[in-house]
Amino acid sequence: MSFEAFRVTPGTSVDLASWPTRSDVGWDRGKEEGKRRVEVLAARLAELQELFYADGGHRLLAVLQAMDTAGKDSTIRDVFGRMNPQGVRVASFKKPTARELAHDYLWRVHPHVPGDGEIVIFNRSHYEDVLVVRVDGLAPEERWRKRYDHIVEFERMLSDEGTTIVKFFIHISREEQAERLQARLDDPGKHWKFDPGDIETRKKWDDYMAAYAEMLGRTSTEFAPWYVIPGDRKWYRKLAIGEIVVGVMEGLGLEYPEAPDLDGVVIE
Ligand code: AMP
Ligand code: MG
Repeated sequence: MSFEAFRVTPGTSVDLASWPTRSDVGWDRGKEEGKRRVEVLAARLAELQELFYADGGHRLLAVLQAMDTAGKDSTIRDVFGRMNPQGVRVASFKKPTARELAHDYLWRVHPHVPGDGEIVIFNRSHYEDVLVVRVDGLAPEERWRKRYDHIVEFERMLSDEGTTIVKFFIHISREEQAERLQARLDDPGKHWKFDPGDIETRKKWDDYMAAYAEMLGRTSTEFAPWYVIPGDRKWYRKLAIGEIVVGVMEGLGLEYPEAPDLDGVVIE
């Protein structure tokens, strides 16, 4: 699968400047066809999710991380949004509450992982604890630095216990983010999406890229790989994520459970 080009090989260091924010890998039929493909993929994911639920023997966790405006929310809507809400959950991780901060950083995360037959999408995740926490100095370095190892072991445990994990970093350029923030400013209908905090975060772009790069290099594993998805074109980002998730689900060998013996059953 050509989208495997975006997979971060475990144990390699990542220089994000050399990873594309725009790409045609795996698609040469242009934007309009690409958008139609996204709809086909979303429909396919809905079918696969029903089978996944019926099979009941797997758990799937998809993690989304990105800079502001990169499209985590619209990916959830347009790629995963056709799935049956009974089998899918989104867990969004915001600034921790006082109670969450009074615990270790994985405490608030673990209750949200998927159970049998469930698909869970993390909209941000435990990775914020090596991203914003690092960039904003919310914990001392000797504390957050140990977290890469914890996270790898946490995900190894989830994987050993039957969870399939796939992680996406949506990679947008600084220029593309400027355009999207400007578009939000220019359109009163989008003002509700405008978070002045995003401007402050944007000022720390290079620090974030360094934090993301180290995170990708240290925590991409065979059992929980990171994919760096070119994010400057919205349709391509959704197409790539959709193709990868379809590939992962098709690779699980899902089966409908054996039907009961219905011979002679009569509905009166
Ligand atoms: P949004 O996803 O745009 O609604 O914003 C959520 C905000 O919560 C972002 O600014 C994140 O950086 C922040 N956030 C998420 N997790 C953490 C964390 N563990 N520590 C501090 N801030 C966090
Ligand atoms: Mg935001």
